[in-house]
Amino acid sequence: MQTPLIDLKDIRKSYGGQDTPKVDVLRGIDLSIHAGEFVAIVGASGSGKSTLMNILGCLDRPTSGEYLFAGENVAHLSSDELAWLRREAFGFVFQGYHLIPSSSAQENVEMPAIYAGTPAAARHAQAAALLQRLGLGERTGNRPHQLSGGQQQRVSIARALMNGGHIILADEPTGALDSHSGKEVMTLLDELASQGHVVILITHDREVAARAKRIIEIRDGLIISDSARDNPDAQTSANPGALQAVDLRKRLSEGAEATGAWKGELVDAVQAAWRVMWINRFRTALTLLGIVIGVASVVVMLAVGEGSKRQVMAQMGAFGSNLLYLSGASPNPRTPLGVITLDDVAALKTLPQVKRIMPVAGAEVAVRFGNVDQSAYVGGNDTNFPSIFNWPVIQGSYFTDADERNAAAVAVIGTKIRDKLLKGVSNPIGQYILIENVPFQVVGVLAEKGSSSGDQDSDNRIAVPYSAAAIRLLGGHNPEYVVIAASDARKVKEAELAIDELMRRLHNGKHDYELTNNAAMIQAEARTQNTLSLMLGSIAAISLLVGGIGVMNIMLMTVRERTREIGIRMATGARQRDILRQFLTEAVMLSVVGGLAGIALALLVGGVLILSEVAVAFSLMAVLGAFGCALVTGVVFGFMPARKAARLDPVTALTSE
Ligand code: ADP
Ligand code: MG
Repeated sequence: MQTPLIDLKDIRKSYGGQDTPKVDVLRGIDLSIHAGEFVAIVGASGSGKSTLMNILGCLDRPTSGEYLFAGENVAHLSSDELAWLRREAFGFVFQGYHLIPSSSAQENVEMPAIYAGTPAAARHAQAAALLQRLGLGERTGNRPHQLSGGQQQRVSIARALMNGGHIILADEPTGALDSHSGKEVMTLLDELASQGHVVILITHDREVAARAKRIIEIRDGLIISDSARDNPDAQTSANPGALQAVDLRKRLSEGAEATGAWKGELVDAVQAAWRVMWINRFRTALTLLGIVIGVASVVVMLAVGEGSKRQVMAQMGAFGSNLLYLSGASPNPRTPLGVITLDDVAALKTLPQVKRIMPVAGAEVAVRFGNVDQSAYVGGNDTNFPSIFNWPVIQGSYFTDADERNAAAVAVIGTKIRDKLLKGVSNPIGQYILIENVPFQVVGVLAEKGSSSGDQDSDNRIAVPYSAAAIRLLGGHNPEYVVIAASDARKVKEAELAIDELMRRLHNGKHDYELTNNAAMIQAEARTQNTLSLMLGSIAAISLLVGGIGVMNIMLMTVRERTREIGIRMATGARQRDILRQFLTEAVMLSVVGGLAGIALALLVGGVLILSEVAVAFSLMAVLGAFGCALVTGVVFGFMPARKAARLDPVTALTSE
């Protein structure tokens, strides 16, 4: 004789123990069912029928006894292999239909195929065909609450058939239906049995049970009669067209892993997540405020911080951030001030880190034009002046190298000199002014610097050739200080080191000079700004944390509310990791939505700030970083609830309220 498809040997199941009284629900069930049989298990309420069905369908494990499925002991299968068996071999039909309330009829029917990794097109077509066959062709888009009880039960039968439904386990399928719908459902089960499906029908109603070929009666956890056992001749009536029994060896070759399933599952998980979020949109929005505010504040605060930093840098860098100033200094109070010579300047000029070098000798002196007297800073410097200080001439031109060589008495004046000293003159170019009683001819006017440099007196200045200043005004040849432009604004520090080393050599190891730079000041300023950004950033991080806790809260609530759905998914063949993936996807979706909303809010706030003329500089890094943080928050805080969902026991989940 053939190996029975299902073979139960002395199956016992008891609940309770330790602190609660022990209940023996099944007390030694022996039962074999062959391919193609239509079996009814009948018994009074509380006799253990559902418990038996859960064990038959591998949703539950017996306390003791052996369950052989196609000859293989089910006790030896892992939870993934059991999920595979539920998916491939069984189709469940429950008294309460157990459809997923947020999904349409079509989606409910497709679910087992998603876990089996059936490609989307085949899945859609098959589900539509099944619904059509069960008379629900018009209802595919309806959600369960939009269907009558009879229609819902037919949807659940379609779902049971989706992956083949070799063995249909129907637990009181007509229990909640009116007599007409009940008859329809029974006719359907009859048809399925005659097509060769194994149908195991559980009922308390003898009349319903009478439709089956074989009737097993159960009372208080024991089989008290079995029409096949009592009437052995009838047993050979196994349906000749019986469906091929599920081949367990196939499972091993498939590795219990439905290949390509993850893609369908991911799409399904994202859709399911979106639906649940949409249904609870108010609650979701409130809970997501934490993440929204967190992301928005990170982005806005960093943008404001960066904006003000750039503003300060721009102000300080108006004279060039790559500039170094070298002047004489005394190593200690008793030694005389060191002197920088033009030889030093010539030597420094050869350094590769030095782009330009310019000696300056200047003084605050009296200048006169006609009968107007004014005090101004007169600096002797060479022709590097406009490029070093990024300070163009707006009228006339700068003096030339020839002027420098000849110590020509020419002057380039700042706007304040033009406007005050030469105020009555229409064209200052060509005019002679007296500097310390020495006549100098004006050849150019410098652009106005004041507003950008932050120094109100920088335009009250006259630039003359260094040689002319040395010979005609100051009576000395050594520069007061030297301005050096580093070759690379980002390598000012390196230039500083090189200059320092060379100067030490030139001055025989004496440190009688001082080297300062704008960059150092800018860097100090930037550091303060960075500290500020860091502080603002950590405030934002705290709100992200709060947001994460919100996600965890909402996920825990979701898992509790949808425990039944988790049970249904497991009954249709979802593995633990499928459930984990689904709820993790939901958590990530939540934070992605929160993150995007946060970025949108940040841009909005930024726009308002820009309109109110606050310096704002959005950086892509900050936006991506904040979004990434939100994503990580979702994964981290969603993991615990998702794992909790995945570890639920299928039966407990199914029977939860
Ligand atoms: P039936 O489906 O035949 O009405 P069940 O199999 O649902 O019966 O239940 C049989 C008995 O097992 C009942 O007395 C019920 O109280 C008990 N029972 C079922 N599940 C549990 C459980 N999780 N814990 C304790 N007792 C249970
Ligand atoms: Mg029951």
